[in-house]
Amino acid sequence: MTSQERLEQAVEQAARLVVAADHVVALVGAGLSVESGIPPFRGPGGLWTKYGEPDMLGYERFRDDPKKWWEERISRSGAMQELIDALAQAKPNAGHYALAELERMGQLQHIITQNIDNLHQQAGSVAITEIHGNRLKLRCITCNARWPLDQFPIDELPPKCPECGGLVKSDTVMFGEPIPRDALDECINQARMCDCMLLVGTSAVVYPAAGFPQDVKMSGGTLIEVNPGETPLTPFCDVVLRAAGGTCLPLLVERVRQLAAA
Ligand SMILES: [Zn+2]
Repeated sequence: MTSQERLEQAVEQAARLVVAADHVVALVGAGLSVESGIPPFRGPGGLWTKYGEPDMLGYERFRDDPKKWWEERISRSGAMQELIDALAQAKPNAGHYALAELERMGQLQHIITQNIDNLHQQAGSVAITEIHGNRLKLRCITCNARWPLDQFPIDELPPKCPECGGLVKSDTVMFGEPIPRDALDECINQARMCDCMLLVGTSAVVYPAAGFPQDVKMSGGTLIEVNPGETPLTPFCDVVLRAAGGTCLPLLVERVRQLAAA
């Protein structure tokens, strides 16, 4: 069998699992963003490979001196600036649009993303939980209220939450910062309802994301991997689409559409 035939066969199997499921959730990782030109952190061309791995004290520094953190944030350089530039130019790819289409068709109930780039929203997805936050938002660390960056007036540093007076920071989760409780609760809730999980561009080795596929599998659900490379999850997956999300997710959506209409 050629690799093309293998992919077609896997798309067929995956489409049948999606149509048969009641609650499909996509767990999305950095791989899908890399396809949109956003540099990864590790590996060749990775930001940390070039600039060095940051220490794990980012959140602690924010807590110690939020005013200084905000002042530094306003004058960024190096890895952060490269990431910000890449994020500003990035556009959703065919994989993002395919997931948005799958949601509109009623065949995808939720996206849990590890990415902060806002590309799912730009592609038209609605039901999204962002484990690591969103680069275009600010968040109160006390009550988890969130605001679009450009709609929050910053008159003083550090800015304070108009709801509860708590400290306000970027919504993106920093090193050493706990995952916001509301996002984590929603992920746990989604994983509990999920009976078919798409693992898109993620190796899900980092908790809490790593626990969600395990939960789905243990409760009798199915796992579909969408990834050009093998991951630690591969042996546990029912179907593996060994290609980039931008290549195979549109094929999957097309086949789901045909099966759902039949
Ligand atoms: Zn607050």
